Amino acid sequence: MNDRDELRLREEIVEVSQAMAARGLNRGTSGNVSARLAGGLLVTPSGVTPDRLTADAIVRLDAEGRAPAGSLKPSSEWRMHSGLYARRPDMNAVVHCHSRHATVLACAGRPIPAFHYMVAVGGRNLIPLAPYRTFGTAALAQAVADALDGGLACLMANHGQIVGAPTLAKALAIAEEVEEQAAVYWGALAIGGPKILDDAQMAAVFAQFKGYGQGG
Ligand SMILES: [Zn+2]
Repeated sequence: MNDRDELRLREEIVEVSQAMAARGLNRGTSGNVSARLAGGLLVTPSGVTPDRLTADAIVRLDAEGRAPAGSLKPSSEWRMHSGLYARRPDMNAVVHCHSRHATVLACAGRPIPAFHYMVAVGGRNLIPLAPYRTFGTAALAQAVADALDGGLACLMANHGQIVGAPTLAKALAIAEEVEEQAAVYWGALAIGGPKILDDAQMAAVFAQFKGYGQGG
């Protein structure tokens, strides 16, 4: 990857961070976004709100989490991002946020079952829930990577949601859909609980997604 590609990726991270704020997926400094680079990653800095974020504020980290001298401090949650790139060659972008309805469910200890066909955007028949671990720790990075095995999205207990995808645009779109699914599931629970689609019905959804070129 040359400098020009890296700059483009930095700009895209800024755009995605600002889109997350504009769409209500995060507030203040709570979300973070990253993209894979050869030998490491680019990640949003700690404590900078999306409206003040610039391409040169994005932090480049190597696989051990080291940044060049003079960089801003990376997001405290960089280990979750780094851990996913190490384990998931299919993921080139990671988006994490505390979007409201996903966080409501995560705080109630509820993964999202296949109550609506669009739950399939997470790559599986459910959007699972990673167990609670302290933010910023290697233990949380491990819990999230385990919960994401075989899928692209999960809730994080008492915390929020995280999505990994081949591109930043796709990660943002999935995170937005996870929040929408969380909101609808929450509403369905409030009026007596949803009816759950069975495995055959969800298999048909995945087949249909493939046909539309939108699968997995
Ligand atoms: Zn967080």
